Amino acid sequence: MSHQSPPIQTGAQLIAHSLKSLDVRIIFGIVGIPVIEVAEACLALGIKFVSFRNEQAASYAASAYGYLTGRPGVCLVVGGPGVLHAMAGVGNSTANATYPFLLLAGSAETGAGPTRGAFQQLDAVSLLAPHTKFAVRPPSLEDLPRSIRDAYRFAFYGRPGVGFVDLPADYIQGVPREVVPIERVEEQPRVLGDQRRVMAVAEALKGAERPLVVIGKGAAYARAEGVLREFIDALIEADEGDRTKIPFLPTPQGKGVLPDDHSLNTSSARSAALAGADVVLLVGARLNWILHFGEPPKWSTGVRIAQIDISPEELDRCAADPTLSIHGDITSVIAQLKAHLSDHRHISSSWSNTLSESAAKNLAIARAKASTPTNPLTYHRTFSLIKSTLESLSPGGAENLVYVSEGANTMDISRSIFTVSQPRQRLDAGTYATMGVGLGYAIAAEMAYNHTREASPLSSSSIRKRIISLEGDSALGFSLPEIETMSRYRLPIIIFVINNGGVYHGISDNTPTWGADWWDVDKEGKRRDILLTSTALGFETEYDIVARGLGGRGWRVVDEGELVEAVREAWRHRDGPSVVNVIVASGVGGKLEFGWLGKEKGSGGSK
Ligand code: ADP
Repeated sequence: MSHQSPPIQTGAQLIAHSLKSLDVRIIFGIVGIPVIEVAEACLALGIKFVSFRNEQAASYAASAYGYLTGRPGVCLVVGGPGVLHAMAGVGNSTANATYPFLLLAGSAETGAGPTRGAFQQLDAVSLLAPHTKFAVRPPSLEDLPRSIRDAYRFAFYGRPGVGFVDLPADYIQGVPREVVPIERVEEQPRVLGDQRRVMAVAEALKGAERPLVVIGKGAAYARAEGVLREFIDALIEADEGDRTKIPFLPTPQGKGVLPDDHSLNTSSARSAALAGADVVLLVGARLNWILHFGEPPKWSTGVRIAQIDISPEELDRCAADPTLSIHGDITSVIAQLKAHLSDHRHISSSWSNTLSESAAKNLAIARAKASTPTNPLTYHRTFSLIKSTLESLSPGGAENLVYVSEGANTMDISRSIFTVSQPRQRLDAGTYATMGVGLGYAIAAEMAYNHTREASPLSSSSIRKRIISLEGDSALGFSLPEIETMSRYRLPIIIFVINNGGVYHGISDNTPTWGADWWDVDKEGKRRDILLTSTALGFETEYDIVARGLGGRGWRVVDEGELVEAVREAWRHRDGPSVVNVIVASGVGGKLEFGWLGKEKGSGGSK
């Protein structure tokens, strides 16, 4: 803040200058009393402000922006209800452990007693303290810069999470008596692992018959792609004849840290890899539901699980071996491990044969599903056509496509079909399985890759990334009005709605209906009973027309020819969002079971 032009005359300007000093380039949010002045002061300093329709989507966007850029994403909201809506992003960021997020919210004047009933009054600090790493009302107007810097730093030092600053109206409108400059927060130091533990893990890997590396979104967040690539490839290239091969398995958002088409990627044999491995190195992933807690029957009894994590509290949990737990940054610890394994020679052809046989079987099933023309459209066929058409249109091919995906079936099935080769090229509902994140994430990705260009390394290319949002019809409904946000900022995001008329499997022939007095009339004037099942949604909801009403473009497609044509048209539309409403048969799509993510590549979905 040494640069003070225009001079800082209000608290709002002080906040804006603090954010500028922290190198914040964009803020997501919704204004109202008393934070309009804050947003305007930020805009005056050249900080972008993306104005949403609901704080929930804005909070998701900010946290995803943090994940994509490695520095906290910032969200500005009003107090009371604004904070409650943004709680969704607070919970989502905390649960994902890789989404650094700074929430700023207006609040009633400091003089308003707690029971005064002031405008949108809420004790936000008490509400948010248990759910954030740091929540503060600055002790004075003059302390705003330091409090904001502390909250920002807490959000991404250590395990990423949430920082919160409460901004009372009288601070925002007040005149600071002095301005104490703050500095940008540097990257956190890359913590090295305990050498003894590193050696123990190296020894365990050397002794393994069926080793496996699991790569989680912590590795994507840590930008560990370079060092992990060297680690895995160095082991392959160790010797011409005796090659050490450690297969790897990415988690859903760990995909792309190493390219999906890497020869040691064992995604297509996920179940066989988990069930067979005897020593596992877990890199930036937790042993939660996504990895079946590291326990049988999905994992073998007696498996030794080594773990690298930035959060010491994460270690020695579930089935992880406490003697093989390393507290440290992935980039440093993998480099340390590589040094210990470089002279290692080990042949394990039976392990790689087991995995490649299982992969071959699963891939054959998935390919058959994707390549067989269907009418009505199925999930597999729809995704396969979207993928091939997009890749043929994209300059630079698949690398320039960034995917967001949500909805149980949509996310599950599309994950294996849309292969990725770059880290952070795919976002989904994540650890919390949060539905409704899709449009906020898509806007965050558009901003990170194409507007602020903070999301390296993809942004190093001058070619624009095209953001593709694959949405279940239920998932889309949570944040539908954000299509207007995309239109207002002319963001050429392409949204595919995989419309099976509901949650999971939607409706089916067996769907019960309400009684004779509950009915409406369809387009042809025929009576239609109201659907009773909890999973059913309006099957004929015209998301394409909604999109047009919100300033975008839209197509409704029911067959392969229409789908391919709509993808082409959507690609050509560069002045705002496109929505392709893909009608798949009602009742299509699997009822979600806990086996989700435990299924083999391409085997999810229709049952
Ligand atoms: P996934 O959903 O891919 O399984 P998780 O969200 O379960 O991944 O786990 C991500 C883990 O990565 C968290 O435990 C988090 O503490 C950890 N993490 C984040 N950044 C780093 C880092 N720089 N180095 C090591 N671990 C990290």
